Amino acid sequence: GEQRGGGPPCFDILLMTELVYIGIGSNIGNRIQNCQQALITLVECTGGSLRRRSSWYQTQPWGRDDQDDFINGVAEMEMAMPPHQLLEVCQEIECLMGRKESGCWGPRIIDLDILLYGSQIVRSPDLEIPHPCLHQRNFVLVPLAEIAPDLVHPVLHETIHSLCSSVSDRKQVLKI
Ligand code: ADP
Ligand code: MG
Repeated sequence: GEQRGGGPPCFDILLMTELVYIGIGSNIGNRIQNCQQALITLVECTGGSLRRRSSWYQTQPWGRDDQDDFINGVAEMEMAMPPHQLLEVCQEIECLMGRKESGCWGPRIIDLDILLYGSQIVRSPDLEIPHPCLHQRNFVLVPLAEIAPDLVHPVLHETIHSLCSSVSDRKQVLKI
């Protein structure tokens, strides 16, 4: 970070921030409002700042077809909160907003996924960054490419634009 203010150096606070991309989704209730509420809460709880947000997209469900379409979007945030703590915050927000377990790929009031955390790579049982499905899913790549096409995936070493144009996922993703 840059040096702030004119005070003596011993009072300077070095905030090591990273650019973090969060995938937001909902397919129950007022889906856009749920996504917006989650994002506002995420900003409050992380102390980070919201830099960009994609449009909202209506997307066909992935994995299981017996459910409503999702609303999905991606937010670019700048924050100092470390990855595991961020995951806890995401899960707390999902829980607070009333998310019930409905099985793999089932319907949900809110889903918050950490897609990318700067160029950091995290591989632990409860947290994988970059998100392991990022490069396979239209509903993540299309909104991400809207706000960060030139971003390079730190494992695949390809830009989001390039991943998005070569993805084989044929699920519909419509800007609303
Ligand atoms: P999905 O979002 O893939 O449909 P869930 O939201 O139910 O599935 O997430 C299941 C688990 O995924 C969580 O308990 C969490 O520990 C794990 N997980 C691993 N990597 C990530 C990540 N990058 N962001 C969010 N959750 C993650
Ligand atoms: Mg999730």
